[in-house]
Amino acid sequence: MTDALTVSRRIGPDLVDLRRRLHRIPELALHLPDTQAAVLEALADLDLEVTVGESLSSVVAVLRGRAAVSGERPVVLLRGDMDALPVTEEVDVDYVSQRPGLMHACGHDLHVAALVGAARILDELRDELVGDVVLMFQPAEEGPGGAEPMIREGLLDAAGRRVDAAYAVHVYSADHPFGTWFGRPGTLMAAADEIVVTVRGRGGHGSAPERTRDPVPVACEIVLAFQTAVTRQFSVWDPVVLTVGKIASGTVNNVIPDDARIEASLRTFSAEHRATAHEVVTRVAQGVAAAHGLSAEVSIGNGYPVTVNDVDEQAFAQGVVADLFGAERWADMVNPEAGSEDMSFVLEEVPGAYLNVSACAHPDHRDAEDNHSPRAAFDDAIVPDIAAALAEMALRRSRQLAGA
Ligand SMILES: [Zn+2]
Repeated sequence: MTDALTVSRRIGPDLVDLRRRLHRIPELALHLPDTQAAVLEALADLDLEVTVGESLSSVVAVLRGRAAVSGERPVVLLRGDMDALPVTEEVDVDYVSQRPGLMHACGHDLHVAALVGAARILDELRDELVGDVVLMFQPAEEGPGGAEPMIREGLLDAAGRRVDAAYAVHVYSADHPFGTWFGRPGTLMAAADEIVVTVRGRGGHGSAPERTRDPVPVACEIVLAFQTAVTRQFSVWDPVVLTVGKIASGTVNNVIPDDARIEASLRTFSAEHRATAHEVVTRVAQGVAAAHGLSAEVSIGNGYPVTVNDVDEQAFAQGVVADLFGAERWADMVNPEAGSEDMSFVLEEVPGAYLNVSACAHPDHRDAEDNHSPRAAFDDAIVPDIAAALAEMALRRSRQLAGA
């Protein structure tokens, strides 16, 4: 019997070849013309409805199943992000990045190859596919974010009906032995926001502070008050991580400056605490400044929301992985990660699951370098497995949704 794994093993060498071609030509952010061209070429011989993004170089391909279904045809979305990082590669492989200062250091080249693989598997198994599949090739996961503009451009209705369930897989170069899948239900990753506080005072001579409004000690008080607020106003069971990474003010020791600038990153693990933290940060900064007769402007740059796995979808996706590869290749994540991910925008709209898998190329995962390191090495032997898992999720979930 032909199944997803059989097909993935047959086409595996082509997928690995595609991954290595992509690895040589990393591109950044929203506009990835060479990567987009490679994806379009890799899909060109398949019967798909393909659209490309207007404001970014995304690719959305709709693959229609041929199995009979009574009633609404389910729609499943599979996602692969495509962008690289501004890192100079130090991995010694013959397909090393050809672009100085750019590297696929987060393994998104494997994601693209795996999603192409899922498309090819589903194309061969169309007679068993009860619904339609939306293939989401996304730029700019590493910033400024590609999922949100793709949603604005109609991603979730690309098949003519709303997506019912969405899945994504991310590779890791460390943490677990090669081939281990891992994840958790509920909160998987943090929301990450950037905070800038500008304390506005009035500068003057260092010998006469009473004739100024000195922003420097006020900025210091705000930094300390932030830490007090984090520990006193939020439950430890729903953490808030607020890190002031930069304070800037002044020019020389005997001049009181006009203003001071505080830059912080805020990570939260629930939408509720994220909203509350925005209020608290603003109130504390403005309140402390006002107490000393100064003012503070607070600007909060919204990053990616909290990534939340639907409990049922997570159990389903985990079950597919266990069936295909054996339950011993699954590891539960005890805690969420403090990183963030813009698949969260999709998972805010439709239920779904985001799984991780180790592509660790090092013989001992404890000595391996993490994603984003110039020495992060990913073993692309995992690509056919990811392709099979994504295709199998689409096949099975469509059947379930159709009640078939
Ligand atoms: Zn990544």
